[in-house]
Amino acid sequence: MDKYVYYFGDGHAEGNAKMKDVLGGKGAGLAEMTNIGVPVPPGFTISTAVCTWFYDHGNSYPPELEQQVRENLAAVERSVGRTLGDRQKPLLVSVRSGARASMPGMMDTILNLGLNDETIVGLAGSSGDERFALDSYRRFIQMYSDVVLEIDKEKFEHELFALRDRLGAKTDADIPAESLRGLVETYKGIVRSHSGKDFPQDVQEQLWGAVGAVFLSWNNNRAITYRKLNQIPDDWGTAVNVQSMVFGNMGSDCATGVAFTRDPSTGLRRFYGEYLPNAQGEDVVAGIRTPLPIAKTQVTSDGQQSLEELMPSVYAQLEDVYKKLESHYRDMQDIEFTIQSGKLYLLQTRTGKRTGFAAVKIACDMVEEGLIKPREAVARVEANQIIQLLAPVFDPAEKEKAVGGGRVLGRGLPAGPGAAAGRIAFNAERAVEMAAHDAVILVRIETSPEDIAGMHRAAGILTTRGGLTSHAAVVARGMGRPCVVGAGSIKVDYGRGEMRSEGHEPLEEGDWVSIDGTTGEIIAGQIPTRPSEVLQVLLEESMKQEESEVFRNFDRLLKWSDEIRTLGVRTNADTPQDARVARLFGAEGIGLCRTEHMFFAEERILRVREMILARNEKGRREALDELLPFQKADFEGIFRELAGMPVTVRLLDPPLHEFLPSTEAQISAVARDMNWGFVELRQKVNQLHEANPMLGHRGCRLAITYPEIYEMQVRAIYEAACDVKQAGIGVHPEVMIPLVGTVRELQTLTDMVRRVAAETFKARGVEIPVVVGTMIEIPRAALVAEKLGEVAEFFSFGTNDLTQMTFGYSRDDAGTFLPEYVDKKILPKDPFESIDTEGVGQLVRLGTAGGRRANPKLKVGVCGEHGGDPDSIRFFRSCDLNYVSCSPYRVPVARLAAAQAELEFQHFEG
Ligand code: ADP
Ligand code: MG
Ligand code: MG
Repeated sequence: MDKYVYYFGDGHAEGNAKMKDVLGGKGAGLAEMTNIGVPVPPGFTISTAVCTWFYDHGNSYPPELEQQVRENLAAVERSVGRTLGDRQKPLLVSVRSGARASMPGMMDTILNLGLNDETIVGLAGSSGDERFALDSYRRFIQMYSDVVLEIDKEKFEHELFALRDRLGAKTDADIPAESLRGLVETYKGIVRSHSGKDFPQDVQEQLWGAVGAVFLSWNNNRAITYRKLNQIPDDWGTAVNVQSMVFGNMGSDCATGVAFTRDPSTGLRRFYGEYLPNAQGEDVVAGIRTPLPIAKTQVTSDGQQSLEELMPSVYAQLEDVYKKLESHYRDMQDIEFTIQSGKLYLLQTRTGKRTGFAAVKIACDMVEEGLIKPREAVARVEANQIIQLLAPVFDPAEKEKAVGGGRVLGRGLPAGPGAAAGRIAFNAERAVEMAAHDAVILVRIETSPEDIAGMHRAAGILTTRGGLTSHAAVVARGMGRPCVVGAGSIKVDYGRGEMRSEGHEPLEEGDWVSIDGTTGEIIAGQIPTRPSEVLQVLLEESMKQEESEVFRNFDRLLKWSDEIRTLGVRTNADTPQDARVARLFGAEGIGLCRTEHMFFAEERILRVREMILARNEKGRREALDELLPFQKADFEGIFRELAGMPVTVRLLDPPLHEFLPSTEAQISAVARDMNWGFVELRQKVNQLHEANPMLGHRGCRLAITYPEIYEMQVRAIYEAACDVKQAGIGVHPEVMIPLVGTVRELQTLTDMVRRVAAETFKARGVEIPVVVGTMIEIPRAALVAEKLGEVAEFFSFGTNDLTQMTFGYSRDDAGTFLPEYVDKKILPKDPFESIDTEGVGQLVRLGTAGGRRANPKLKVGVCGEHGGDPDSIRFFRSCDLNYVSCSPYRVPVARLAAAQAELEFQHFEG
């Protein structure tokens, strides 16, 4: 018989941490904690396989399930000494969702299940606290109605707030029992009028209703959006955890809280979290009451009492538990706990989400502490996250000016580091719209899962309520957005569309505001930013290594990566400045140096046009001769910067008309400059017009018909190389022919390169190895790669064009349909962002294999945007490429991703 249900309790569990696929992350964590002796209320997990079955079978269950649930429920009842639905000693349970990958707050959880008009009497009696029983009942009715009966929770909350106002009660805990009794009746009335039925009194009906709702919540809109943003497959499904309740709302010796074993925003090694006395779990995350700090060191204002001070002995237990968990999991944990009558229970542990800053620091610190090895540190930091360490910070002088000028509107909790300035949007939809034109700061009282699309588009997020574990904080950290939460001194009024802070003019939608997610400051206006610490050390040299821990950790992690990876990392750079940045970031050469950008500079474009418009070869050569010194100077600058590392120079690629004027006004201006007649020039421009220029007369095709263009470029390359070599500096140019589709094209142009190089060497009396290769960007080139391999010394896959031509999608026009293609799952991902392994990837594989059959020493690289994308890098490693090449700022990402690809690869190889 298939096993669908796994028990945990009393120091033993049927599952463990390795069974996330079956039990979901939460279930696996509960099982593991139980097994290592951490106090966990007993319960059981219904496996993810049931979710899959449920959706495959018209929302029904496998037949064995009912019996397995019954047996496990009985085991829980025995363990707790209470029975579900019992009038004297009723068992209450929570029904909790829990997918393989954590999806905080995206799916539903129901607490206090098992309460009805009869069991509430038993709960009141056995706890000796009627108020508590009623409080639990009203929470249950609201949650169950929201999740299972789909009655808007606003309806209930409205009544709760009205009651609080009538009583003058500051918090829920101040509402007396008799008022709660009335509230419960009001709630039941709401259920009756909205569902046409009474609130279900049958506890089995309650249980199965809740289980079904959790499975259904896998496909609610926010869960779907979250999965899309985080690339979690839709078919994984969720597990359901049914767990006996413990109560944090049973009096002043009770509490509930969430904590991190290290600071999730900076990575600092300190226990860090928030709690609420006399409250139930949801209250902390919901941001309804602003929670209190756990540790004494976190206290920032008088009147805040930390858990450490309030319940020193429980706090000590909690410290033991967190240390045990961290050393067991050997990673930072994010935990949820509840204290019932002075006793501690853990309700969840998972690997804590963290910012890029924290990820790098924690990984490096844990190596230092001997908890993990360098290769584990490398595996742990999400490659894309390391970009955060390069994100700008506020310009200190400008910030000081703003602070001195009284522009600080307030201060909140620093929830996501980094500086951001943007225009204010008060809701997610507006944020999305406004982000199309300007940077946006999403300003909310609090955020909820419905807001994630807006949060994603915003440059920064600000909330006035909630703590460091509130929804806004958790999600922003995951996205790497600068974020400030709980800025209580700022009042947001959605109705009037403004935010106010005392002593300042109110700000409206569209006004500029700046937030510092590292300090929590909120400042009116737009404060300019400046480079991150890493850049200040590496590029500006305005900071010393010793002064920046961020830099040292960044550097350490990447050096470990370099020891592991076998895939080379080069950069795409056209200027000495870009080349310098990339080299400082660790690039090992240039994989793509485009030469056409050099043609656009002001003094040159005129000569380029003269060359294009020349009436014959002689005229063209004259113009080219004037261009040569410019090109040579460009190459020299780059060769000097690279000092002997390989530089792949791609000869001219775009169609000629790109250099010509197009509008009538431009044409007449250029005609004047060049001493041409307007009509004559317009005619010439029209002559050069092509219906499909991207597939037209460009790349090597131009060179076949006008060889003198490439000849000039090749001469410039080797003359520059000779100069650099004669100056005693290493130089290693590689000449790359673009847009090759046939071997004759490549052979003809390779012969030309060798001839011109030989002429140059002879004239200069210097010799430099001549390396000629080709870009593989036309599908036909991949198909005839074996032939091309006989001529070329290297291949470089131009995966942008290769993707464009393989799919037949114009890169410039695909924006109109690709997003919808991804939405409708016609395509799993945008193939221009991440390589299409199934199609385009096969051409890469095929082309590499073909080329190497002809030339086993053939060097193969990638120079499209994909060279900086971690998923694509993993694929390229599996194709046995020699290197990837990406834009300078992606070089650190590529180094880390290449190391991670290597670790995975070694793992699979065994
Ligand atoms: P989420 O995935 O949204 O975090 P959880 O299933 O973890 O949802 O439930 C949210 C909160 O409900 C928990 O943090 C915890 O405080 C509370 N909770 C869940 N189960 C129990 C339980 N058995 N006893 C007491 N509180 C619980
Ligand atoms: Mg939770
Ligand atoms: Mg191309």
